[in-house]
Amino acid sequence: MSIDSLPPLREIIERHGLMARKSLGQNFLFDLNLTAKIARQAGELQDHTVIEVGPGPGGLTRALLAQGAKVIAIERDPRCLAALEEIEQHYPGRLQVISGDALETDFAGLADGPVKIVANLPYNVGTQLLIGWLLAEPWPPFYQSLTLMFQREVAERIVARPGSDAYGRLGVLAGWRTEARITFDVPPQAFTPPPKVTSSVVHLTPRQSPLPCDAAVLGKVTQAAFGQRRKMLRQSLKPLGGEALLARIGIDPTRRAETLSIEEFVAIANAL
Ligand code: SAM
Repeated sequence: MSIDSLPPLREIIERHGLMARKSLGQNFLFDLNLTAKIARQAGELQDHTVIEVGPGPGGLTRALLAQGAKVIAIERDPRCLAALEEIEQHYPGRLQVISGDALETDFAGLADGPVKIVANLPYNVGTQLLIGWLLAEPWPPFYQSLTLMFQREVAERIVARPGSDAYGRLGVLAGWRTEARITFDVPPQAFTPPPKVTSSVVHLTPRQSPLPCDAAVLGKVTQAAFGQRRKMLRQSLKPLGGEALLARIGIDPTRRAETLSIEEFVAIANAL
């Protein structure tokens, strides 16, 4: 069953000559039942504003609109604009397409009220965008939730706990400020062209009162600590104060970054 009366995505792709480009991280979803399932992970969408990064030919965009959202979509590939215009005409006044680079977009300034961010992210800029949203100021942030598709390995790093191989900068920042969970996996065959690896949808909800800490300083501490994750903290954190800094807050300087809890990272950042 189709979610709207627009033409199938394969037809749209052909008509607009949208051959996927690897350099833009283009792996398109054509199955509207699947895009509807992704959109549902964002919760209630009726009359909510959703910001979507990289709508491409509009598979996820259509699912968001069909579920009642108003969508502001940022797309870097101008070849997609004509296809998106067809969707805009089908949902008058509910889809705004911004032709531009999400990495240079001020997301907080895009809408007046609270927004939800939903995206099948281009793999080459996904992590950078997520870190920007996690370090947003002021906090609680301008968004109510993030529902994002990543490569499975990146999704595991986002929800990772101390002591695991996947635990690193992403896990600390996401765990500090949000509650993050993987909602479901999507196999490579669901995309055109298929990527080499499985993908996962991650849902992140901002914590209203995360442990008090300067986001930029915590970002710096985690970058230094996990930049040399096999080294002892006294070595990896040397540029930030090393052994003396760790002694001040009673953390054993011979420990490695992956053994530190989020609370301990926050304590280091606050001691700086
Ligand atoms: N949402 C579509 C779907 O699910 O089928 C396409 C997803 S595809 C993985 C990623 C999309 O992001 C592509 O349309 C690509 O052109 C776009 N994109 C890549 N880099 C971007 C950037 N820096 N800013 C905005 N869009 C970008």
